[in-house]
Amino acid sequence: MARPALARVDLDALRHNYRLAKRLAPGARAVAVVKANAYGHGAVAVARALAAEADAFGVACIEEALELRAAGVANPVLLLEGVFEASELALAAEQRLWVVVHCAEQLQWITQARLAAPLQVWLKMDSGMHRVGFAPTDYRAAHAALAASPNVESLVLMTHYARADETACAATARQREVFEAATAGLAGARCANNSAGIMAWPAADAWIRPGMMLYGASPLDVEDGRDLQPVMTLSSALISVRDLAAGEPVGYGGGFVTPQAMRIGVVAMGYGDGYPRNAPAGTPVMVGGRRTRLVGRVSMDMLTLDLGGLDSPRVGDPVELWGRHVRLAEVAAACATIPYELVTRMPARVPRRYEGSTGP
Ligand SMILES: *Cc1c(COP(=O)(O)O)cnc(C)c1O
Repeated sequence: MARPALARVDLDALRHNYRLAKRLAPGARAVAVVKANAYGHGAVAVARALAAEADAFGVACIEEALELRAAGVANPVLLLEGVFEASELALAAEQRLWVVVHCAEQLQWITQARLAAPLQVWLKMDSGMHRVGFAPTDYRAAHAALAASPNVESLVLMTHYARADETACAATARQREVFEAATAGLAGARCANNSAGIMAWPAADAWIRPGMMLYGASPLDVEDGRDLQPVMTLSSALISVRDLAAGEPVGYGGGFVTPQAMRIGVVAMGYGDGYPRNAPAGTPVMVGGRRTRLVGRVSMDMLTLDLGGLDSPRVGDPVELWGRHVRLAEVAAACATIPYELVTRMPARVPRRYEGSTGP
């Protein structure tokens, strides 16, 4: 038997979520964000599955864009942080990539470059997150300099929210006001919303930038009734079932000690497969269609479960670590992190299996 650890990726669910994002922003075009290997789902497979309908793809760097181009993905691709050095601009122009400009250095690289073709530039404003982007007071001058450059084909006005996931927080509305005031009267389409913005702070911008919601997890701090469908199912199987007496330690460190006689299941899944090592006892897991809980410390290749209350569990029984039944967000919350981190750090060791029709 092959090792059963597996990440199944449902491409129909992916397309469903993309369409949901588009419906939440009627009339807007969408940059489907596929950076970081499509949040661990496989950038090429995800981009191919969305190629017929995505208005553009978003990546973090030119290497990620070139991977898509090499796979035959012809859609526009936006470099979300722009280029990291001037020498990348020629390649960006040749590959018809769109570039963010977020600082004076990038602006100078573009205006001083000799390019075979002009670029579409997304000019980023720091409206309050204070990570990257031009200050509102510097924005108009940057816009004018780019608008006057023969290397710039068109300009999109862009910003990014720091706290859009916090649905009761006033910071997003404040950032919006700053963005609108500082772009009033400027030519160019606007783009502000990531997944959280699309779901909680709808706006009439020409563009949206959905990332996490495409993969089926809500970034919001409240339960959301909208029908996001989980795209990745991380699964494996029981490789051992054992009955322990009361008072026996389980796993490294002996941190979990059986409070009474217990049946323990061992699963072929560990932190070497991307399952978080800091998952505490009680983290939900599904075995043979029943929810149960993790016990004992997660090791590199194995983890242990409480099989109490399950009818005759057996070696080979399927285990869902996250997916349709155990939501990624639940596991992330139990581990004091966010769904983004869990899927993004999924290692290559776990085979990805793509399901769903791959056509449009
Ligand atoms: C990653 C990223 C996104 C997507 O964010 P989600 O929260 O995953 O929707 C949008 N815009 C920029 C600039 C990003 O870097």
